[in-house]
Amino acid sequence: MISNYCSFCGTKLKNTDEICPSCGKTISEEQYAGIERIGAGGTGYAETIDHESFAAYRKKLKKTVRIILPIIALVIAIGLMFMGVGPAGSIFAGICMLVLMFAVAAVQGRKKPDWEGTVTKKSYSHIRKKGADSHIYKIHFRTDSGGNKTQTWRSHTSVYDYLQEGDRVRFLGSIGTPYAFEKYDKSADESIPCVCCGHLMDPRYTFCTLCGGFLLKR
Ligand SMILES: [Zn+2]
Ligand SMILES: [Zn+2]
Repeated sequence: MISNYCSFCGTKLKNTDEICPSCGKTISEEQYAGIERIGAGGTGYAETIDHESFAAYRKKLKKTVRIILPIIALVIAIGLMFMGVGPAGSIFAGICMLVLMFAVAAVQGRKKPDWEGTVTKKSYSHIRKKGADSHIYKIHFRTDSGGNKTQTWRSHTSVYDYLQEGDRVRFLGSIGTPYAFEKYDKSADESIPCVCCGHLMDPRYTFCTLCGGFLLKR
């Protein structure tokens, strides 16, 4: 697997790097040859939950939104113009879309309160509307304070597949992503999810090799 980020220190790597320019470790799976993969996540919750890589990831995400959303709005405005809506109407519609998308992005990137609880139920539904498929993955939780929580993912299934009924988890809403779930007992896990990008990672790593996010484990 190509590493975008060093699994030891989280530094961004160039394709040509064979040695991490920051920590000096060789970029190779052989580094982990003597360490058992299953169970490397340990049992118990991670001590560090406000790592600087989380803030860096949010910043990168916001930057992407700031660049991508105006492009989408412009494409919509031009598209409407070609459909005969007229320049003024198209610009107005484009601006409306832009405001709407920024509002959605702001809500999605918002930090939420942290909580601890247990997985009570997993549910999957498949909706087919006008030929378009939509896959909805949901997990229901019972929080320790007696409340109910639900998390929905529409395209990402890694955390949905990872968590099972009865698992004790904590949700770190303060990280600000829908993947910020940490399982208490990771002793039987072959992979653990990155709380920033949601991809499953080798639990022997310290950092996610796809986004540079710090991995939550013991
Ligand atoms: Zn490094
Ligand atoms: Zn990641």
